Amino acid sequence: GAKQTGKNRYRLFDTALANASKMQLESISDIRSALYSREFVLYYQPKVNMRTGAVIGVEALIRWQHPERGLVPPLEFLPVIEGQAISLELGEWVISSSLSQISQWQSIGVNLPISVNISGYQLQQGNFAIRVAALLAAHPEVNPNCLELEILETSALHDISKVSATMNACHKLGVRFALDDFGTGYSSLTHLRRLPAQLIKIDQSFVSDMLEDTDDCAIVEGVIGLAKAFRRDVIAEGVETIDHGLALLQLGCELAQGYGIARPMPGADIPQWVSHWKADDSWPAWELIKDN
Ligand code: C2E
Ligand code: MG
Ligand code: MG
Ligand code: MG
Repeated sequence: GAKQTGKNRYRLFDTALANASKMQLESISDIRSALYSREFVLYYQPKVNMRTGAVIGVEALIRWQHPERGLVPPLEFLPVIEGQAISLELGEWVISSSLSQISQWQSIGVNLPISVNISGYQLQQGNFAIRVAALLAAHPEVNPNCLELEILETSALHDISKVSATMNACHKLGVRFALDDFGTGYSSLTHLRRLPAQLIKIDQSFVSDMLEDTDDCAIVEGVIGLAKAFRRDVIAEGVETIDHGLALLQLGCELAQGYGIARPMPGADIPQWVSHWKADDSWPAWELIKDN
């Protein structure tokens, strides 16, 4: 059931943290030099509207292009630096690289918003909104509403009034917010009510298991209903198969992201992916869904 999945996930995360803290000293300096020698890259995963076929944006996901280890996934290095000054620098690099990427795509006629994951530590900085404003000012050609910030309801929200003030300040700049991994926190309802986040991302653990597990399916249905009641948009993460997509459409969730649609890919591959997806038959279920 959902509880079991949740427990497993936290156990995995605890292990990742424990391993990370063992190698902490070495890794922080490694990560710092990796940032300065430009070894980090952003991959982008498309988000689509399953009913209209529109590509609504992409999520930026960081990877470490390590000279010996190859492409290192974020959960192997982000937990090491969370709470450290270097994580703020890396976080700014992600925002600024995403703005450059929007600008680059724009210049070849591809207009796509980018969602950027923001750590709890980053969001809790008193000058966060000012830093976001400065990064946007460096890219006057980019419309601020092309930038969406994804925050984890589990990590960011120790001080909800401070966080909501920061979010409101960013919101005034035109930046949008999404609540990531929604449903995994302790007080999702309070967060939903108090935070100016237009989009809710249903956690992928519920989505992956929704076809086999009636509890998870009920959670997915509940989150969709909650989003509707609060007039927020809702997207399902972890849509791995067409059957997931169809089940979600039946429950009233049209927006989706997941391996079943596209894996995260380098920015240079996105324009071609978008034009293929537009070609209608890129998803085998396409005809089925349009008639659904
Ligand atoms: P997230 O923001 O919830 O991102 C979704 C994760 O699920 C990504 O893993 C993505 O590759 C993966 N995913 C997408 N579709 C599917 C699917 O259909 N099935 C499965 N099993 N997985 C899918 P990734 O790239 O390894 O990132 C993991 C987490 O690391 C992210 O979870 C996010 O919390 C964090 N992260 C990634 N990039 C950044 C970043 O630039 N800054 C911060 N602060 N956190 C980041
Ligand atoms: Mg995310
Ligand atoms: Mg997520
Ligand atoms: Mg996640």
